[in-house]
Amino acid sequence: MTAWLDAPLTTLSLHDLDFSRERPPGSSRTSLRPAVFLDKDGTLVVPDDATIHDPSRLRLMPGAGEALARLSAAGLTLVLVTNESGIARGAFTRVQFARLQGALLRRLKDEFGVVLADVAVCPHAPDVQGRPACLCRKPAPGMLTRAARAHGLDLARSWMVGDLLDDVEAGHRAGATGLLLDTGGETVWRRSPLREPAGVFSDWPSLADHLLREAASGSAPMSTPMDDVPGDPSRLPATIASLAPAQAQA
Ligand SMILES: [Zn+2]
Repeated sequence: MTAWLDAPLTTLSLHDLDFSRERPPGSSRTSLRPAVFLDKDGTLVVPDDATIHDPSRLRLMPGAGEALARLSAAGLTLVLVTNESGIARGAFTRVQFARLQGALLRRLKDEFGVVLADVAVCPHAPDVQGRPACLCRKPAPGMLTRAARAHGLDLARSWMVGDLLDDVEAGHRAGATGLLLDTGGETVWRRSPLREPAGVFSDWPSLADHLLREAASGSAPMSTPMDDVPGDPSRLPATIASLAPAQAQA
């Protein structure tokens, strides 16, 4: 069992995991907006440990900037959700990460006119077996559910895009649709219903085409709210009790 499963409710509120209980003031179901949640390394940027010390070395994944510009123009809210356990491990500081984040946001704005609605960071380390020890580290859904509450996002009409099955699982646990951008980051391929991508793409242009088609169709994508899908084993309620051990990442 992980710490975030065992923790008493007095310190870890399950409300953090239940996006249906809280909505921004004045919001209704229909006013909630669809979003695309984005992983960072291997999805938005080329993984490179040196960038934390020299943000000028930051390189976007091929086609990522152009794709985000298309998604943004279509009215989709973009939120970065990133595991940064290097902060907890002392590999780099919050200030260093903030510098890198600033460089990334400037690149997206200056070169592609893209503005992210939020950047959610999990600074925590996993437990010794590589599983989340907090509510936010992917594959836990905390960063997505928190951003949804903060920005009025409709998780059931949103997607999580990442290069790891942990990203897919986090998306599904949040009640969104998990898509895999298979850029070579995933090497373990530990499977479970929650880790089964609703789509697998090898490049950003085809992924963006898919997202724009789904968004234009107006219907909910593969995902529906997790409390009204009885009988479909691929959409099991994302209770934290069913969380399988996660692989260490980042
Ligand atoms: Zn965390």
